[in-house]
Amino acid sequence: MTTAFYTHPDCKLHDMGAGHPESPARLQAIEDQLIASRIDQLLDYRGAPLALESDLARVHSAAMIALVRERSLALAGTSGTYQLDPDTAINAHSWQAALRAAGAALAATDAVIAGEIDNAFCSVRPPGHHATSTTPMGFCLFNNVALAARHALEVHGLERVAIVDFDVHHGNGTEEIFAHDPRVLMVSFFQHPFYPFSGAEASGGKAVNIPLPAYSDGKAVRQLATEQWLPALQAHRPQMIFVSAGFDAHREDDMAQMGLVEADYTWLTRQIMQVAAEHAQGRIVSCLEGGYDLSALARSVVAHMKVLAELE
Ligand SMILES: [Zn+2]
Repeated sequence: MTTAFYTHPDCKLHDMGAGHPESPARLQAIEDQLIASRIDQLLDYRGAPLALESDLARVHSAAMIALVRERSLALAGTSGTYQLDPDTAINAHSWQAALRAAGAALAATDAVIAGEIDNAFCSVRPPGHHATSTTPMGFCLFNNVALAARHALEVHGLERVAIVDFDVHHGNGTEEIFAHDPRVLMVSFFQHPFYPFSGAEASGGKAVNIPLPAYSDGKAVRQLATEQWLPALQAHRPQMIFVSAGFDAHREDDMAQMGLVEADYTWLTRQIMQVAAEHAQGRIVSCLEGGYDLSALARSVVAHMKVLAELE
C-alpha cells in the first residue's frame, strides 16, 4: 500500500485570531503524533499544490471566490483579520491556504486515479464541509471534498462517487452542492440539534443522514452505520470514496458532546476501506475537517492513517 499525506506550510499561516479553536496548532499536533507513532516514515509526504480559480469555479460562485480572494489580499502585510461571519475569519494568508487545501484534495484525487498511490489523507486547513456553493461559513472557506468529488466526475469521467462525512457537524455545504446530483451519495452522522441545524430533513439529494442526540457513543454510531450507511454504499457502488474526516465527535473534544474514541475511527475507516476495495479499486481521498482537542485529534488521525496504510 502507498498512502500519501498531503499538506503544506501555507495551511498553518491561515489564522482566525487568538483562541480560535480552528488553529494552526491542529496541523502541527497531527504531524508530531505521526512522528511519535513512528508511522511518518511509512507515508508518502506530498506538498499540496495551489488549486486554480477554474477548479474552484466547478463548485463555487464567482462572487464567493472573489470575496475570499479580495478580503484576504487586502490584508497583505498586516496582522488583521476580516470576519466573514461570527465564527469564520480571513487573514492575509487565508487565500493562499485555501488554495493549498483545495489543491491537496484535487492533487490527491489525480494521483489516486492515476494509480500513483492507493489512497491519501489531506492534512489541510481551512476545512470545507460547511462551505456551500455561494457562502463560506463555519470555519470553512472552500469545500475541499466537494471540489475533489466534482473533479473526479467532470475531469476524470467517473460516474458514481460517495462521500462519507464523520465530522460531528452536519456537512450542510456538501449536501447543498450535490442536492441535485444523483452521481454522488453522501452518508453522514452528526449531533442533532446542533450547528448548523440542518440535515434532519431530506435535501432532495442522494444522502443518508443519521442525526444523533448529544452523548451518543461509538456503539450507537457503529450500529446505525452498519444498518444505514453500508447498504446504501453497496447499492451505490461508488467508483471512488471521499471522506470528510472530522474528529470532533471524540469524547475528549469539547466542541460537541459525543463519545467516540480512536477505536471508533479505526472501525469507521475499516468500513470505508472495505467498500472501496469492493467497488472502487481501493480509491479513497480523505480530507481533514474538524477536531479541536489537539491530543484527541492527533491520536484519531493516527488511527485513521494506520487503517488507510494497512498498518493494522
Ligand atoms: Zn465539525
